[in-house]
Amino acid sequence: MSPDEFLAAVDRLPVFLVPTGLLEWHADHLPLGLDALKAHAICLRVAERLGGGVVLPPNYYGRPGYSRYAGTLTFSDALMTLLFTELCDQLRKVGAKVIVLLTGHYGPCQMDWLKRFASGYEKEHASSGVRLIAQAEYEGVEIDGQTPWDHAGKWETSMMLFLRPELVRMERFREPTTIPRMYENPPHDWYRETGEWTWWGQDVPRDSSAELGRRCVEAIVERMAREVRAACAARGAVS
Ligand SMILES: [Zn+2]
Repeated sequence: MSPDEFLAAVDRLPVFLVPTGLLEWHADHLPLGLDALKAHAICLRVAERLGGGVVLPPNYYGRPGYSRYAGTLTFSDALMTLLFTELCDQLRKVGAKVIVLLTGHYGPCQMDWLKRFASGYEKEHASSGVRLIAQAEYEGVEIDGQTPWDHAGKWETSMMLFLRPELVRMERFREPTTIPRMYENPPHDWYRETGEWTWWGQDVPRDSSAELGRRCVEAIVERMAREVRAACAARGAVS
């Protein structure tokens, strides 16, 4: 965006969408940057649906994380809180009334941190009236009676087949339980507290499709747009 485009966009709808993820191992058939790329593609569609809003570039810094597997980079609660505090301060400076933190990376560490950060920030800046919507894509969404939540399983694979098919290498798929861990005792290793997480149990090549991904993305976009509109209306940010 050029400055005049940016100012006009903020004036039209003071909503900022922050797609957030992680560089994280997603089995052998999916890219490390999946979570942020997915969240970014969804944010762009939400903005399109809203007819406005500013979408930030994808953020790849997040909490753990399959820390022991190839390519995963994870960060501390303290760093994430500082990073997002300053980011939200900056977004308020440039006119944000509603900030959407959409995380494509899930799991207990990320979700605990994100929810805690958002409610704390909103409380601390209550007088500014800024509203934070902080959630994982799958929250409040159901497809065929299931929550579209997994790690490199049929849901994430399907969403990528729809959003970025050129990045899915189905021919490289291997059962994740057969893939060795690479790093011992990494920083922020939540396995130490939780033990191995059993997370598979799907026939990914059989059950994934671009069509399933389309249905997921549609449902997520619809839900997010509804929530953002409600937040704007409550703030009087739109007529
Ligand atoms: Zn993921």
